Amino acid sequence: MSAMNTPNPTASTVVRSPAAILKQVFGYSEFRDGQETVINAALNGQDSLVLLPTGGGKSVCYQVPALALSGLTVVISPLISLMQDQVSQLQALGVKAAYINNSLNRDEQQQIYQQLHSGLLKLLYVAPEKVLQHEFKERLSHLNISLFAIDEAHCVSHWGHDFRPHYCRLSELKQRFADVPMMALTATADKATRFDIVQQLGLNAPYIHTGSFDRPNIRYTIEEKFKPLAQLLRYLKEQQNQSGIIYCTSRKRVDEIAEKIADAGMNAAAYHAGMSNEQRQFVQTGFARDDIQIVVATVAFGMGINKPNVRFVLHYDIPKSIESYYQETGRAGRDGLAAEAIMYFDPADIGRVRRFFEDIEDEQRRRVEEQRFNAMASFAEAQTCRRQILLNYFSEYQREPCGNCDICLNPPKSFDGTLVAQQALSCVYRAEQRFGLGYIVELLRGANTSRIRDNNHHQLSTYGIGKDHSSEFWLSILRQLIHQGLLSQDITQGSALRLTEGARAILKGQYALQMAEPRLQAKHVYQDKLAQFNYDKKLFAKLRALRKELADADDVPPYVVFNDKTLAEMAQLMPTNDSEFLKVSGVGFTKLNKYGSPFLHAIRDYLAQS
Ligand code: ADP
Ligand code: ZN
Repeated sequence: MSAMNTPNPTASTVVRSPAAILKQVFGYSEFRDGQETVINAALNGQDSLVLLPTGGGKSVCYQVPALALSGLTVVISPLISLMQDQVSQLQALGVKAAYINNSLNRDEQQQIYQQLHSGLLKLLYVAPEKVLQHEFKERLSHLNISLFAIDEAHCVSHWGHDFRPHYCRLSELKQRFADVPMMALTATADKATRFDIVQQLGLNAPYIHTGSFDRPNIRYTIEEKFKPLAQLLRYLKEQQNQSGIIYCTSRKRVDEIAEKIADAGMNAAAYHAGMSNEQRQFVQTGFARDDIQIVVATVAFGMGINKPNVRFVLHYDIPKSIESYYQETGRAGRDGLAAEAIMYFDPADIGRVRRFFEDIEDEQRRRVEEQRFNAMASFAEAQTCRRQILLNYFSEYQREPCGNCDICLNPPKSFDGTLVAQQALSCVYRAEQRFGLGYIVELLRGANTSRIRDNNHHQLSTYGIGKDHSSEFWLSILRQLIHQGLLSQDITQGSALRLTEGARAILKGQYALQMAEPRLQAKHVYQDKLAQFNYDKKLFAKLRALRKELADADDVPPYVVFNDKTLAEMAQLMPTNDSEFLKVSGVGFTKLNKYGSPFLHAIRDYLAQS
């Protein structure tokens, strides 16, 4: 490092207009709600806190000022994979960006330092541990820094599993570089964390932008869990090879399910913290590049997933909090196209998860976890619009039901359940209240099993009285009877079902009983995710193949070349020359130069043939 080519640290000046940068570099004609004001705050030297949901367009908020200002923007990012992803995307846009972390060797790091000191870089991505090193801060003080951007700023929070101790020390940057504005960004919707961010980073009178946390393109569905593996495989078959994530609570289950899906002939891989770094990296990269369609994972698969075309996120088990549920489901549909969030729910899981909390020793922590889970449990059990509950939980009041969740699309119906309740209750009674759910369902359905024969239960008067209904139907009815307090489960006796006092009146026919009609098969209406574009599907398929080829040649994920939306718009507008190509949203100057020729060629070819 030499001091000779070090520019004088002076305040950055605005050298280019934000709107021009948005168009020429990113290829977009308009700012999204909130972006412009946040950008202006940064240009005016003000600190800011940007709260936008995943896919809301946070990166543009600091990348545009980075290009508008004369100096360097330093982006603090928690994960190598995130840095790499952002830098590849910026480089594809023709922006001088780099990251520095321990995945680079000494020479590579030296090279980047040289570029920095010669003023060749506009954005530098760096991990919090690195930026706080004394030597690194010294280096920064010789540069003209225009902005600090703190990405994934919720990493300051002790509660989430993304906690990173060094994030709490980033206020040191604020102290050392008092004149440089700092922008913190996060997709976290919970209030306590927002407060923490301002405090811990030491933001000075920040401009705060809070966008709506609604993700209108995500359809929320909660499905009763009957035979989850069969439900899952049925669902996956309908998905026509689209990308998705399946979350399970344990590593063992992750491995099991991934294997079952692969056995069914689908392209799936497992991901959890018990695997080596290399294995995990392999899966994550394969997923980003569309080489792996489905990842079955624990919550360890998270923050680094920047893939915009994840079409579904499925929770095989109930998550521990609404915060995690929202964050995990939020990984679907970053590109704004239709996506699905599905959760399998067995009411008995509530008790199972609660028992798990008993092992948490720290009293305060246990209470917080319990409270958070209680909110999740009541969300799962509720029978009203899913989105309304979610958004209300994050203090975003919604008056109208959303029209895009399972409850809105297929409203629960009730029916006179007196007869089926009597059948179920008397079956429990005849079997001497010694058996659990599964066995009672078999009895009702008149199953021919050795266990039933050994117990001589095929001779009971209630044996087979419910054979006209499916097992799923009876399971749902029995669960409702538990929920309504007519049956209880004795967990000391293998969860044997017992009649409660209330059951007697039903059996005697003293009351009619309203029950919810079991929702046996959630309807997953397959949606064309690009239906908003009136595009040519054959051309789209050709362009998609071309994109993959170009991406593989450049060793980047396909979305770095163009995202699905841009591709669909191309297959709609069918540009045949440069100026038409530039009109496609997502095409800026660099991408025109880099990819215009092969794509225009493909389109012209296609038009000539058809
Ligand atoms: P976040 O970081 O908030 O999850 P991104 O910054 O990755 O979101 O943006 C999500 C997508 O929206 C990206 O494909 C991005 O290029 C696109 N995008 C951002 N701003 C705009 C805009 N003003 N117009 C059109 N698309 C935009
Ligand atoms: Zn709804």
